[in-house]
Amino acid sequence: MKFETFNFHPAIATGVTAAGYVTPTPIQDQAIPHVLDHRDVMGLAQTGTGKTAAFVLPILNRLMGGRPAYIRALIIAPTRELAEQIHQAIETLGQKTRLKSVAVYGGVGINPQIQKLRRADIVVACPGRLLDHIGRHTADLRKLEVLVLDEADHMFDMGFFPDIRRILRSIPRNRQTLLFSATMPSEIRRLANDVLRNPVTVKIGTTAPADTVHHALYPVAQHLKTALLLKMLENIQTESVLVFTRTKHRAKSLDKKLTRAGYRSASLQGNLSQGKRQAALDGFRNGTFKILVATDIAARGIDVTQISHVINYDIPSTPDAYIHRIGRTGRASCNGEAFTLITGDDKNMVRAINRIIGSEVEQRTLSAFDYNSPAPARGNHPQRSIKPRRNFSGVKKSRAQRPNARTM
Ligand code: AMP
Repeated sequence: MKFETFNFHPAIATGVTAAGYVTPTPIQDQAIPHVLDHRDVMGLAQTGTGKTAAFVLPILNRLMGGRPAYIRALIIAPTRELAEQIHQAIETLGQKTRLKSVAVYGGVGINPQIQKLRRADIVVACPGRLLDHIGRHTADLRKLEVLVLDEADHMFDMGFFPDIRRILRSIPRNRQTLLFSATMPSEIRRLANDVLRNPVTVKIGTTAPADTVHHALYPVAQHLKTALLLKMLENIQTESVLVFTRTKHRAKSLDKKLTRAGYRSASLQGNLSQGKRQAALDGFRNGTFKILVATDIAARGIDVTQISHVINYDIPSTPDAYIHRIGRTGRASCNGEAFTLITGDDKNMVRAINRIIGSEVEQRTLSAFDYNSPAPARGNHPQRSIKPRRNFSGVKKSRAQRPNARTM
């Protein structure tokens, strides 16, 4: 599916292009048509799935007709960081619209917020500070058209539900409501019953990992990750390798290090122009690049059948993302391998992954690697060229040799 299918206003379509989005993510595919139809939506999706744009884009589209001087959309989020992130997404995706957004949260001066609230079409708020504004009559929500409750399970955990219910008293009953949550415990179900009217539920589900993928975890100290990755590449016989990092910045910097080390590598991350993105993808598909370093979202839609290895340089942030990533290899009944570098900080996620897989993913160490070596000086990797390597026969798996085994 393409973004054109949604028939967004040209100004919004320009925003999508400016953000570098090419293909809608599954939650966007599923949710956007319903939000555009003004339906209430219960969205079961985690951060990292593209859920922000799944509500921001259709809301911007709805608000395009005229600019009455009142607040028309309210997005409530549990943390300042998330509120700020959503506000930034609105600024990017709505950059060609004249719509104005304001982020409202505590810990910063209230007066600049009051000024901006006078001209805002969209408010992105944390519950406490929003109630403060409602009490001061500096946020008039009486004509609100759309309400979004983002990360509702997180808001419940943080004790925000009484605040949310108080806020609900200040906004019209006749509105569109979108509720997003990663999980659906009974409290969220109750809230959904109270705030949603005839909702459509969209869910980004979990699928089991393919049998054709062998996976293993490699415990390593954070500062040795690049050195271990280089050692792994030296020791594994690979066709095409897809390496995942947590952030765009890390993807770019790791790609540079791999290129400097002599590998034919490219990166795929949100900051690339469309031309560069396409060149990276084409090069990976036709074998010009043997390694592609990508973030989760940038890697969506990559359909390269002969990916022999997925290497998680950083562990993904959800078990679902793990399943999704390793699903990139072992396709079409070819065997694939998926390796994940883990540090002591990742133990909760390792547990969650083991739980979803239903068994303990094997932990390995690489015998050829010096786990005690100091961090390499920046930009000082030896030059190497990619050539056929021996397989993982040199790998030792004894527990005693696992550096972080006890902490995992
Ligand atoms: P979210 O789950 O909303 O926090 O989004 C995670 C990341 O995915 C953000 O950096 C977004 O900019 C990015 N993103 C959202 N939708 C897309 C898309 N269709 N294509 C590429 N990146 C996207």
